[in-house]
Amino acid sequence: MDCDDARVLMHGHLDGELDLAADLEVQRHIEECPRCVSEYAALRAMRTRLRDEEFRFEVPPALREKIRHAIPASPRSRPAPQRSGAYQAQRGPWIPRAIRFALPMAIGAMLALIIAPHTTGPSVDQRLAGEVVASHVRSLMATHLMDVASTDQHTVKPWFNGKLDFSPPVTDFAKDGFPLMGGRLDYIDGRPVAALVYQHGKHVINVFMWPGAGATTGAERIETEHGYNVEQLIVVGMNCWLVSDLNRQELDKFAGLLRARG
Ligand SMILES: [Zn+2]
Repeated sequence: MDCDDARVLMHGHLDGELDLAADLEVQRHIEECPRCVSEYAALRAMRTRLRDEEFRFEVPPALREKIRHAIPASPRSRPAPQRSGAYQAQRGPWIPRAIRFALPMAIGAMLALIIAPHTTGPSVDQRLAGEVVASHVRSLMATHLMDVASTDQHTVKPWFNGKLDFSPPVTDFAKDGFPLMGGRLDYIDGRPVAALVYQHGKHVINVFMWPGAGATTGAERIETEHGYNVEQLIVVGMNCWLVSDLNRQELDKFAGLLRARG
């Protein structure tokens, strides 16, 4: 297989649409060819980006109007056509009435599909809040709360070295009643993240961190999701999500400690 073939087939390979033999051949070429491997990586990255909800947009009213104008008007608003040869030559082929009605409906349905996910689907923040709560619950249920169990920030912080492409800030707040318990690797928003585990009384607090301000402008907020309190903030440039069954006031106090450090 040469590069030209590989480039055509790698789309099918990515979407799992090839038969086994072709699939293996493309796979082998990609693995061996430095040019195609980068092409394939770019393709895969693009597909991931396109799935991002940030890329969905609402159809501007002007465009919606344009499409509406492009649709043939309903037959009632036009004089009844005279079915003469001259008329047909002048007006082009006669469009069956059913199609003239179906076309606007089809376009309407298409617009609804484009608009609906944006207006009725969860926002990026809502989705992330759901993800961090799910991770929090999983960490408590699966006896996989910590990969590194230590109250020593100088043990926990270096533990992340080489496991993540960033170094999360780790501070013990034992003096303030929020002792560090440890940390683990987790997976949020399609990427590996640091999860720090703190304790307050009998409550566990998971702090998920990854670089970048994320989808929001960094506005701090606290909300309740499935009975858990979730707070989002930015700490030293890290997107930071706190989840706990701790009450809002106490979680907010803990967020204040994190913020003060940054
Ligand atoms: Zn190639």
